[in-house]
Amino acid sequence: LEQAHSSSNPPPATFSFEFFVPKTSQGVQNLYDRMDRMYDLNPIFIDITWNAGGRSSTLTNDMVYVAQSTLGLETCMHLTCTNMKIELIDEALEKAYESGCQNILALRGDPPLDGSESTGDFKYAKDLILYIRKKYGDHFNIGVAAYPEGHPEEGDDGRLLEYLKEKCDCGANFIITQMFYDADNFINWCSQVRKIGIDIPIIPGIMPISTYSAFMRRAKWSQVAIPQHFLDTLEPVKDDDYLVREKGTQLVSDMCRKLVESGYVKHLHFYTMNLERATIMILENLNLISSIKSHEIVGGTDLPWRKSL
Ligand code: FAD
Repeated sequence: LEQAHSSSNPPPATFSFEFFVPKTSQGVQNLYDRMDRMYDLNPIFIDITWNAGGRSSTLTNDMVYVAQSTLGLETCMHLTCTNMKIELIDEALEKAYESGCQNILALRGDPPLDGSESTGDFKYAKDLILYIRKKYGDHFNIGVAAYPEGHPEEGDDGRLLEYLKEKCDCGANFIITQMFYDADNFINWCSQVRKIGIDIPIIPGIMPISTYSAFMRRAKWSQVAIPQHFLDTLEPVKDDDYLVREKGTQLVSDMCRKLVESGYVKHLHFYTMNLERATIMILENLNLISSIKSHEIVGGTDLPWRKSL
C-alpha cells in the first residue's frame, strides 16, 4: 500500500504535459515552439492526442516524430481504434516505432458522432493493447485511460473497474485518468483500484483553470463533479479572467497537494490545452519548477511506469 507522507509539505512529484493536434500548419509550428519552451520546465514526458482519420492522425505521427527525435522529449503517442482498420493501426505504430517513441496510450476513442457502428477492427481498448503486445512485445510501454467519476457508456462503476482491470491484465503499464476536481472522490477511487489488484502507476489528469466559461464547459463535457468550494470561490469573480486564473491556480494546486499527500500519486499529468500559463502557474505554486532535483523526487526522475510502487 502506498504510504501517506507525514510532513506538512507534500513530497515532490514529477509531471508531464498533454498537447492536442492543432488544426492549422501555423498552429503546429506554434505548438512546436511552445513544446520547446515547456521542455525547459523538465517534464518527464509529453503526450500527443490522436484524432482518428485523415490529416490529424498523420499529424499526430509527425508531431511525435518531431517531439521525440528533434526536440528530444520523451513522448507518448495516443492511439485510438474506433474506425481504424488494422492497416492504419500498423502504419501508426510503425511510424511511432521509427520515431523512437516507446510509449503508447491505447484507447478505444469516442464512438462515431453520427451514431453508426465503428468500422474499426478492434472493439475495445483492450483489443488494441493485446495487438500491440503481440506485435511489438515489450517495446512499447502501454498506458490506458480511466474514469474516476464514471464513463458515459457504463453506468455501473464496479463494472467499469473490472474493465479497467481487464485492460491492465492485457498488458498495460500505467493509467492516466480523465480530468476531475473532486480530490476525495479520486482518492477513494484509487483505493478501490488497488483493492481489485491493479498495481501499476495511477496518473491523475489535471485540467488547469484559465477562464470561468472554459472551466464550466470542460467539467460539463467530461461529466465531472465541481466541488462546492470551487464554485464558491470562482463564481463571484467569473468575469475577471485574471482573478479566475489566480484563484483557480490555488484551487487546483491544493487539489494536487492532496493527491500527492494521499500517497497514491507520484506524478501529475497536465492537460495543457496547448497553452502554457495556467499550467506553469500551478507548477510554480507547487514549487515544482525551480526546486526540482532528481534526488528529491519520489522514485527518481525516470518515467513513472518504470518506478517501483
Ligand atoms: P474502453 O476501455 O475500450 O472502454 C470503452 C467503453 O466500453 C466503456 O464504456 C467501457 O465501460 C466499455 N467496455 C470496456 N471493456 C468492455 C468489455 N469487455 N465488455 C463490455 N464493455 C466494455 N479520445 C480520442 O479520440 N483521442 C485521444 O487522444 C484521447 N485521449 C484520451 C486520454 C485520456 C487520459 C482519457 C481519459 C481519454 C482520452 N480519450 C481520447 C477519450 C476516450 O477515447 C473515450 O473516453 C472513449 O469513449 C473510451 O476510450 P477507452 O480507451 O477508455 O475505451
